[in-house]
Amino acid sequence: MGKLLYSGKAKQMWSTDDPEQLRVVYLDQATMLNGKRKDHFAGKGAAANDISTLVFEYLIQQGIPTHFIKHLSEKEELVKKCDMIRLEFVTRNIVAGHFASRFGLKEGTPLAQPVEETFYKSDELDDPFANESDAIAIGACTADEYQKCWALARQCNVLLTKLFAKAGMKLVDFKLEFGKLSDGSLVLADEFSPDNCRLWDLDTNAHLDKDVFRKNLADITTTYDEVYQRLQKVVTEED
Ligand code: ADP
Ligand code: UDP
Repeated sequence: MGKLLYSGKAKQMWSTDDPEQLRVVYLDQATMLNGKRKDHFAGKGAAANDISTLVFEYLIQQGIPTHFIKHLSEKEELVKKCDMIRLEFVTRNIVAGHFASRFGLKEGTPLAQPVEETFYKSDELDDPFANESDAIAIGACTADEYQKCWALARQCNVLLTKLFAKAGMKLVDFKLEFGKLSDGSLVLADEFSPDNCRLWDLDTNAHLDKDVFRKNLADITTTYDEVYQRLQKVVTEED
């Protein structure tokens, strides 16, 4: 069973018999405003786990190093334990969310190039923005790690923009996290699900991500199930 090491807003991290591996449990809950609003949604954990498993397996196939080992059950996966880099790497392809309000731009405005933003992971501080010199100065990462994480994030953006487009979705923006394995190598960690990205339907721009919860637009589990089905169709056809 292992020991509960951490209970977060979307997942729990449990120890396993192997000190280098963790069991992740996806929770049936969605939060917003850094956990200030929290609701229960049956089936949401399983749907996020399914999507993240599919995306990580796809990225591994394409040569991206990740923490992912295997899908264990409906809500559980096995991953390599990382020393996490305490930064969120946010890439934006289309204007949405805080970027729209910050620059007074309309949601949906195309961007001349992808925007790369880094935030310091801290619930107490509401994840403040941190540029490269901030991140290095506060000891969140080294200059080399910062560059390597962004190089991986750029590769993920190219690969995932194509994958989601084939599944009829625009990858508007997304957040990645990276960690270091015991040998010091950098890997993509955490998860990739509609909790951490914005996905819009290619034709209608309908929201297919956590914004359906943030804006009370639709049932979150049904929405995530639809994203999974669309992605599964693409990867099955590619096999
Ligand atoms: P939060 O911490 O923001 O509430 P979650 O509920 O998703 O988010 O919790 C998962 C936690 O586990 C995050 O803090 C994430 O940085 C961390 N994490 C993700 N993957 C790994 C890993 N492979 N090893 C160690 N920690 C990880
Ligand atoms: N994001 C995330 N975790 C955070 C903050 C943002 O996963 O703590 C994701 C979010 O889902 C979106 C992208 O990063 O896909 C950009 O988010 P933004 O800064 O616009 O914040 P939001 O408006 O989502 O609060």
